[in-house]
Amino acid sequence: MVLKLLLLLLLAGCSGTDREDVVRETRFIMGTFVTFTIVDLPKNKAIAAIAAAEKEMRRIEALFTIDGDKISPVQQFNQLAVGSTILLPAEVSALLQQSLAIEKASHHSFSPLLGGLIQLWGFSKSELPIQPPDGKAIQRQRVAAHTKWIRQNNKGWQRLHHLLQLDFGAIAKGYAIDQGIAALKKHHVQNAILEAGGDLRVLGAKHGKPWRIGIRHPREKGGVLGWVELQGDHSIVTSGDYERFFVWEGQRFHHIFDPETGRPANIAQSATVIAKDATLADAWSTALFVSGERGLKAVEKANLDGMWVDQNGEMHLTEGMRQKFHPKSQH
Ligand code: AMP
Ligand code: MG
Repeated sequence: MVLKLLLLLLLAGCSGTDREDVVRETRFIMGTFVTFTIVDLPKNKAIAAIAAAEKEMRRIEALFTIDGDKISPVQQFNQLAVGSTILLPAEVSALLQQSLAIEKASHHSFSPLLGGLIQLWGFSKSELPIQPPDGKAIQRQRVAAHTKWIRQNNKGWQRLHHLLQLDFGAIAKGYAIDQGIAALKKHHVQNAILEAGGDLRVLGAKHGKPWRIGIRHPREKGGVLGWVELQGDHSIVTSGDYERFFVWEGQRFHHIFDPETGRPANIAQSATVIAKDATLADAWSTALFVSGERGLKAVEKANLDGMWVDQNGEMHLTEGMRQKFHPKSQH
């Protein structure tokens, strides 16, 4: 009896999935579940750090949202009369500049100017669309999503086309993760993972060992293609056609667009990029998803590691990624 009780007590001590020195908290931010995992820090300190990171991420959400209760600076730009200029907050302006630089480096695969197109397709609403929009309307939006219709001058950013709309949906989550990580660091967090809907950034290690991160299988629910080990300060982000989609006449229509066609990009099932920060990894995983083989070269040129999965489920990796990636079949 005593032995049984002792055993029960022992089991109770190990209950739950985490060790005592792991603090894990989940919040709903930017329309997705955000999980903070902090190891090797006293619980009260970890909780305080998470509160600061959450606050910071909500601040970023308010700057970039296009469907919040309060009008964001991005929405203010989107509502400008053609020819008008707006002074955007420094952070928004900097992320717009960075986004336009990635637009160029990715050969127009990633673009922060697709807001009109995304709204036309209906992917910005919580309810998914049921059928694709009219082809002519797609072409009108596609033409409006060009860098010639936005200009930075000494007074701010000028909007030059009546259909031009900004959308930071492919980069803002990464930026929010980076700001969240900065807040954690300020609170002396050295070992952590900050994950937001498939995008994540790690810090340090897990009890002295590298973090092991699975890369999601685009067609097997809950399955992985393989995994990478990350130690120190790195981010890994995956974009996939399985995140938000509808099926119409037997065809899958998802939320990542090829700016060339104005339609869902159709060469990849998913794309993954590893970078030093989540802003870069987020933007480039979207770019790689759209551009496949050409994107892989651009990813390498930007000194990042990446892989994409084509429509046959075949994986294509940069040299750097080949060294980091452990395919599932070998284990
Ligand atoms: P992600 O899941 O990071 O690949 O981002 C997808 C989101 O970014 C979509 O829901 C759209 O809001 C937006 N988006 C779609 N296609 C693109 C693209 N080619 N470039 C930039 N943003 C895009
Ligand atoms: Mg992205």
